[in-house]
Amino acid sequence: MTDVIIIGGGLVGLSTAWHLARAGAAVRVLERDICGRHASGLNAGGVRRVNRHAEEMPLAELSHMMWPGLAEALGRDIGFRAVGHLLVAENERELAWITARNRPACEALVDAQQIRALCPGIAPHLLGGIFAADDGYAHPPSACAAFRDAAEAAGAIIQEATRVTGLSRQGGAWRVETSSGVLHAAQVVNAAGAAAGDIAALAGESLPIERQGPVCSVTTPVAPFMRPVVQTLTRKLSLKQMPDGRAWIGGGHRAQVQGEQLAIAAGEAQANHATAASIFPALRDVPVARSWSAQDGFTPDRVCILGRLHDDGLLHACGFSGHGFQTAPAVGAVLAALLRGQPAPVDVAALSPRRFVEGAGLPAMGAAEVG
Ligand SMILES: Cc1cc2nc3c(=O)[nH]c(=O)nc-3n(C[C@H](O)[C@H](O)[C@H](O)COP(=O)(O)OP(=O)(O)OC[C@H]3O[C@@H](n4cnc5c(N)ncnc54)[C@H](O)[C@@H]3O)c2cc1C
Repeated sequence: MTDVIIIGGGLVGLSTAWHLARAGAAVRVLERDICGRHASGLNAGGVRRVNRHAEEMPLAELSHMMWPGLAEALGRDIGFRAVGHLLVAENERELAWITARNRPACEALVDAQQIRALCPGIAPHLLGGIFAADDGYAHPPSACAAFRDAAEAAGAIIQEATRVTGLSRQGGAWRVETSSGVLHAAQVVNAAGAAAGDIAALAGESLPIERQGPVCSVTTPVAPFMRPVVQTLTRKLSLKQMPDGRAWIGGGHRAQVQGEQLAIAAGEAQANHATAASIFPALRDVPVARSWSAQDGFTPDRVCILGRLHDDGLLHACGFSGHGFQTAPAVGAVLAALLRGQPAPVDVAALSPRRFVEGAGLPAMGAAEVG
């Protein structure tokens, strides 16, 4: 019998496996496809604390401390660059929201002149914003591969092409039915991303997870025109320029979702590109080279779920609502502690799934979600 079975080989599952295996636990990751095939390997790579719900900030701060050391700890470059993250106000209403907001220590208010100093090529209509100097981005496929290989090197078993199809309690342990046979574990983690609601249902539990498909695009390479990641507050845009010169455009446009399938409607990527070009005119004539989407699980309050519904229940780590790449390193550390019966390194009590049983979830923060 395995100590812990983790369902899902995205960054959340892999990070948890890495932390657990290094602590000496017998851990097995079950992934229906290949690791990093979904949101974790296909996201926009934004590593930001700016514009997060206050209840997610302890996780985001813990991750923030981990990101700079991950390349060394994992033994490989994962493309992390602390270029800064700038959230911009395009009109007086947005500026008022930004100015009135309670800011965590990582965020500084910047005025129109400071924005231009940070981003000389930015459009003239921007009035101000919030800047976090040491947020930035990383390269999602590299991060997934590095966590996967490091977890395996530390002793975790990574079992790909294995779909979990049934979950039940048997003799004080978990019986896990899969497309490759039956396994048993003392504890099970639900890190199944957009499918986390389906995994909960297999065990007779209910989670309010909605499948959504954020869209991301890259342009052809272009001469350097920006340094920090730039996000708009109301319009859907998160924009960064990677070291190879390509601009990554994301921030909230959606593909149509049908079960596990996705389709990007004509016009979604173009609309995203048009917003990017309205913020950085240098992008106006730079074509989009390709667009893609992946599914993530969204909660009603857009804050992740970490915790159990019942004492002997599944440990759920899901509902990252379009911004779980940044927090995944910390989520792994937190889950590994909880699974080993130790106190979590940061307080995650407010992230319990029980908030949706006892009420309607956390109060909304009313700003951008993805990226
Ligand atoms: C286009 C896009 C852009 C984004 N941009 C950002 C960003 O800039 N910054 C940021 O912080 N976040 C971003 N996100 C969000 C981030 O990618 C996700 O929140 C995060 O990757 C979730 O990780 P995960 O491990 O929970 O899920 P996933 O990576 O989806 O992994 C879940 C895994 O579970 C597996 N699985 C499901 N069902 C089963 C089953 N029955 N049996 C076995 N395995 C199963 C799946 O195959 C999948 O590999 C973005 C997301 C998208 C889609």
